[in-house]
Amino acid sequence: MRIVPVPCLKDNYAYLVIDGTYAAVVDPSEPAPVLDAAAREGVDIGAIWLTHHHWDHVGGVEGILQMHPGAEVVAHPTDAEKAKVPKVTKKVEDGQTVTTGPLTAKIIHNPGHTLGAISYVIEDAVFTGDTLFAAGCGRVFEGTMEMMHDSLQKLAALPPETRVFFGHEYTASNLKFAAHAEPDNEAVKARAGSLVTPSTPSTIGDELATNPFMRAKDAAQFAERRTGKDNFKG
Ligand SMILES: [Zn+2]
Repeated sequence: MRIVPVPCLKDNYAYLVIDGTYAAVVDPSEPAPVLDAAAREGVDIGAIWLTHHHWDHVGGVEGILQMHPGAEVVAHPTDAEKAKVPKVTKKVEDGQTVTTGPLTAKIIHNPGHTLGAISYVIEDAVFTGDTLFAAGCGRVFEGTMEMMHDSLQKLAALPPETRVFFGHEYTASNLKFAAHAEPDNEAVKARAGSLVTPSTPSTIGDELATNPFMRAKDAAQFAERRTGKDNFKG
């Protein structure tokens, strides 16, 4: 398996997950860059794996289906019901696996950013959408702070070497808030000092060391930090 990040829009990442000439695409926000990348890599898109229903993660679905009409479209049932997620053909819940062509991913339901947000775990990689970013996490739009805290702790339990492929390049500003939240955290300073953009992928180990949201000691501290970041001017 190999993974090709595809920058989309201003700061989004879609990803091609490739085995041979088969590919699944994660979170295509727009079709053109993804179709170009698939052509460049010489792969056929057989599946579209959606982490949640927001337009900047699903906006490319219809354009990709025009070129790859047989591709299956995967989402959690809660987010699949949202009007913005077009043509979902397979609904997946926590703990289930999704197999498309030679690729099999395990689903982690991580509500908080949206109620039907999911991550896809395949081999040593996890695709986290807007739940977990490098040194940050998504805003809590639909769930509760407790839900989002629990969701991040589920991801924290993955092996530390797991590569984290996230939905947005927010790492530089996330590290500024991380330094504000934990001014004595040397790992945050080191990471900020050696940051290279694009910064995808991260690892669960790096997040355990530097992510102030994953490192929150309980839901209350998580909520305090999430609210602080929402209002942080950096
Ligand atoms: Zn989102």
